Amino acid sequence: MDIEKIVKKTIEKYNLINKKDKVVIALSGGKDSTTILYILHKLKYNVEGLMIDLKLGNWSKTHNEKMKEFCKNLGIKLTIVDLKEELGQGICFIKTVLKKQKNLTGCTVCGIIKRWILNKWAKKLKADKIVTGHNLDDEAHTVLMNFLKGNIYLGVNSTPMTGGENHEGFVQRIKPLFFTPESEILKYAKEKNFDILYDKCPCAIGTYRVETRHWSEEITNEDKLKIVENFQELIPKLKKERTTEIKKCESCGEPCKGKICNACKIFEVMN
Ligand code: AMP
Ligand code: ZN
Repeated sequence: MDIEKIVKKTIEKYNLINKKDKVVIALSGGKDSTTILYILHKLKYNVEGLMIDLKLGNWSKTHNEKMKEFCKNLGIKLTIVDLKEELGQGICFIKTVLKKQKNLTGCTVCGIIKRWILNKWAKKLKADKIVTGHNLDDEAHTVLMNFLKGNIYLGVNSTPMTGGENHEGFVQRIKPLFFTPESEILKYAKEKNFDILYDKCPCAIGTYRVETRHWSEEITNEDKLKIVENFQELIPKLKKERTTEIKKCESCGEPCKGKICNACKIFEVMN
């Protein structure tokens, strides 16, 4: 499978990026975000890297070092944001407090905080787009999880171009690997000999997302594509039924749906 071709097609079909855009790639140091950085650079887009150092001991240190080297070799600028400097705590501590006090599980908290920091820093870097490494498996998995939660409306923003439409405070997030199967990304990264770590986040244990991850192994890539494409057809109808107005968070000024954004609700518990 030619994944560069799939990425190109996705960019064209959804008009994700143009050559004038300053594109910031959210880098976890894993195979997906590294691969999309490599491909967009190869396609001559104006890219730079943005990585949040989650302060997860040696795991974070190694990821950071490897990304520094990877970006240096390609001549790509990389900004690393220190989570402790941003929030005063590492992610594990924050997650433990939130689990205890609000029964919010790991990946939800991490996702909210990452999105908040990425949006804030992408604005500082004057980015036109933020790219994340979400792939076809992630998206199929999300559709199925939302079904099981009994709330398919949770998926209204699960599109190759998410959020940010028409709101000044948002930097538009895009997912050029939306239709690319994880197995093919892994193959590509190994073929290119990317010097990165292939293990999962050490904090992602015991969450619903992680426990149901094996679904991906049991569904063919063709079926994953059907799940994702069929859901895309539904989205315009879902959007018509439920539109939410985007406002400014009264605490931090970042965009949000209610009065206070989800990140600030987390910070309130921390203080
Ligand atoms: P995850 O939620 O860990 O599956 O990550 C989804 C996407 O979020 C990745 O493909 C990256 O684009 C981005 N991401 C995850 N972790 C980080 C991080 N520490 N710093 C910057 N971006 C990240
Ligand atoms: Zn806020």
